[in-house]
Amino acid sequence: MTQLRVPGPTPCPPEVLKAMAWQMVNHRGPEFHQMLTDVTEGLKKVFQTKNDVLLLTGSGTGGLESAVVNTLSPGDKVLSVSIGVFGDRFGSIAKTFGADVTSLKVEWGKAADPDAVKKAIKENPGVKAVFITHNETSTGVTNDLGALSKVVKGAGKLLVVDAISSMSSINLPVDKWGCDVVISGSQKGWMVPPGMAMVSVSEEAWKAQAASKMPRFYWDYTRAKKYLEEKKENPWTPAISIVFALTVALKMMLQEGIDNIFDRHARVAQMTRDGVKKLGLPLFAEESHASNTVTAVSIPEGLDGKKFRQVLREEYKVVLAGGQQTLDGKIFRIGHLGMVNEKDIKEILTAIEKVLPVAGFKK
Ligand SMILES: *Cc1c(COP(=O)(O)O)cnc(C)c1O
Repeated sequence: MTQLRVPGPTPCPPEVLKAMAWQMVNHRGPEFHQMLTDVTEGLKKVFQTKNDVLLLTGSGTGGLESAVVNTLSPGDKVLSVSIGVFGDRFGSIAKTFGADVTSLKVEWGKAADPDAVKKAIKENPGVKAVFITHNETSTGVTNDLGALSKVVKGAGKLLVVDAISSMSSINLPVDKWGCDVVISGSQKGWMVPPGMAMVSVSEEAWKAQAASKMPRFYWDYTRAKKYLEEKKENPWTPAISIVFALTVALKMMLQEGIDNIFDRHARVAQMTRDGVKKLGLPLFAEESHASNTVTAVSIPEGLDGKKFRQVLREEYKVVLAGGQQTLDGKIFRIGHLGMVNEKDIKEILTAIEKVLPVAGFKK
């Protein structure tokens, strides 16, 4: 069996794949009403929130765009805290829609410093919303969102979080940390295929939504909430098969228990980091903030990163991710989120050990 270890899409359990093959139902009929209600309840448990949770058809990036167009008006000031590719993307979506974006860019591989964010907010008093990536998939860094949220909420700003590669795998108590809009995506830790984004929307975010003047139609939260509450439906035809898959995956997740899931991710991540270091490879991210869903490994002198991943894929059926943008050729990334356990990590570490010398690495 292939070990698909990229940070999304992630492998799906066989039970989930079976659900993907279920016959279609009427998305305006009673079976779907019940299913959407149950899935929404399950999502709220994983998000640890009493806020509204909306299920939107689209990829994670669509979820990010939905947050922009539902909370802001053209000209609104935004502080975009970016620690990598996905932080940059969130800021550029806001810019595209006419927001006035100030970027706080952190050196890649490092986490955002809460004091630096505090200072940036102070220096930009007109800022309405602060965008933060919880887990930066491009660098393998997890921000200390608990500490960052204290700073942002302490200053009375709207906190909008890209949790696409963390929610469901790394603890993110939405209500406790006062997060206003939190976005995730189905193909990451949720163990289901790509196709849907989930977003939680706080009371304060709804107020911002009512005042927001960005153009929106497909992503309109008001319409999504109205349909969910009044009809138990989505306004548009949803990715019905992904909702099928989510009913099964959420049942599995809640049976395991979210705290156990977070612990499992912490264990496999530690095992990955320890194993990689033992092979003589340097970690890219600062270890104090290393992600529990993706490990970024620096490609050392002598190692042909392209050949390394190719041999792993062709001869060992281990699929790892490369680096993005300026990190292309400089790092490779191991995804360990969703359906993953210690045995999987052991397998891929063994394969990596065998392929390293083949691809030119000398310890
Ligand atoms: C995967 C990912 C995205 C993009 O999601 P798509 O589903 O590819 O649109 C955005 N942010 C983070 C942190 C991600 O990991």
